Amino acid sequence: MTAILWLRRDLRLDDHPALQAAIANGRKLLPLYIHAPDEEAPWQPGGASRWWLHGSLQSLDAALRERGSRLHIARGDSLEVLKRLAAETGATEIHWSRLYDPATRERDTQINQALRAEGIRCDSHCSTLLFEPWEIANAEQQPYRVFSAFWRACVKALKEPQPLSAPERLPPAPEIAEGANLDSLELLPTIPWDAGLTATWAPGERGAQQRVQAFLDGQVADYGERRDQPGIPGTSRLSPFLHFGEISPRRILRMVMDRFGDPTAKPVEAFVREIGWRELAYHLLYHFPQTPAEPLNAQFADFPWASGDVASQLKAWQHGQTGIPMVDAGMRELWHTGWMHNRVRMVVASFLTKNLLIPWQEGARWFWDTLVDADLASNTLGWQWTAGCGADAAPYFRVFNPVRQGERFDPDGSYVRRWCPELAKLPDKHLHQPWTAPQPVLRTAGVKLGEHYPAPLVDLGKSRERALAAYEQIKG
Ligand SMILES: Cc1cc2nc3c(=O)[nH]c(=O)nc-3n(C[C@H](O)[C@H](O)[C@H](O)COP(=O)(O)OP(=O)(O)OC[C@H]3O[C@@H](n4cnc5c(N)ncnc54)[C@H](O)[C@@H]3O)c2cc1C
Repeated sequence: MTAILWLRRDLRLDDHPALQAAIANGRKLLPLYIHAPDEEAPWQPGGASRWWLHGSLQSLDAALRERGSRLHIARGDSLEVLKRLAAETGATEIHWSRLYDPATRERDTQINQALRAEGIRCDSHCSTLLFEPWEIANAEQQPYRVFSAFWRACVKALKEPQPLSAPERLPPAPEIAEGANLDSLELLPTIPWDAGLTATWAPGERGAQQRVQAFLDGQVADYGERRDQPGIPGTSRLSPFLHFGEISPRRILRMVMDRFGDPTAKPVEAFVREIGWRELAYHLLYHFPQTPAEPLNAQFADFPWASGDVASQLKAWQHGQTGIPMVDAGMRELWHTGWMHNRVRMVVASFLTKNLLIPWQEGARWFWDTLVDADLASNTLGWQWTAGCGADAAPYFRVFNPVRQGERFDPDGSYVRRWCPELAKLPDKHLHQPWTAPQPVLRTAGVKLGEHYPAPLVDLGKSRERALAAYEQIKG
């Protein structure tokens, strides 16, 4: 008897309920990855995500082989592939971990029905979240929209996590024809733009666990104070590992509790709360599946975004050439490493949606293609939160001032100097607003605005006023 384990964004062996169920009766096991990006349309993985996926599948295959198994890769229509492989291997059951984005939910439901009709058992399992999106509801049995109330309810419902250890050995794979070769999926870029990603990341389960351990041994103690400073490695950088399911939030919580006891007490509560924001993001995406494209707050549907040709401004933003150092540093960090610090994500998103009045969907799309942690739930929440149209959003009138943000969170300028090296010699006083520096100061620092570094794309004060006036039009 054979079981198929259909792997998607649960690319690990540790704490894997679907894997454990698939091997429960000691039968043969086919660990399967199906490459079918079009089934995720309109949110097929972007360039940076594909790069990560390649490394992740490679690492998973190696881990499976160490335990006597291997990853079978197939391409094509998922239902057809599953039917074909079930017939070829005689598999009578298929296990997978649940996903929550609208396109894959719909696909998975259809697959489930079609396979059951053919007598194949399909079991889906929870392995991505601490709570299923439907498990937490308010007193009226409605979904939450406010983080603090949502998280209070989660904390109340939190049980001692009991993650499942990775099996030491796995049943052998059934004898079938070789699957597709990983390279043939062409996940890696043909034009090599990925040197920065390679230098920054090592996808895979082992790296994920080591990263949590190192974070709990070190930075977590100061996380509350230092998590907002982009110039220092103060956060865990676990987001891509979590997105691809290389570690489960249950395992993270277990490791936190083994070391610190109560996860809702200092020094770890601030970190655990951020995992709570991820839970909220999935809760919202599940209950409001339209939100990757439409504002949760319907009032914003008619927002008067900038009209006319904004393409050149969008391009300047994408390429870190806006002339606003904090914004440009963030966009360059993103392009180079596939990741951006959370504080700076808010700054660049506010600049795009408020100072440039460019729709948040344009920014979300760019992030989707360039982030290694691009995640439909968290990206949608982050963009709508910053644009002021989402759940528990920053009020629209709170426009982030990128100069003040820089002075406050990058006071020694180490972040801006790293990503905008052409400004490195400017004194701290002018670093975050080079247009205010007197000519002799600019000359000494070797900066000619408009030549070595752009003049600001917009006046921050005037563009803020324009944004507030636009908001007045929809306030109702
Ligand atoms: C405009 C915008 C877009 C974003 N897009 C994404 C995205 O596509 N994918 C993504 O994973 N996060 C996204 N975020 C949330 C956040 O910026 C990242 O999760 C965080 O920067 C990842 O770094 P870290 O792992 O060091 O986080 P830590 O501070 O160490 O937090 C630990 C974990 O908690 C979760 N988390 C932290 N903050 C948030 C948050 N605000 N919302 C949801 N989960 C959170 C992440 O899984 C993170 O790995 C976005 C935020 C904004 C403002």
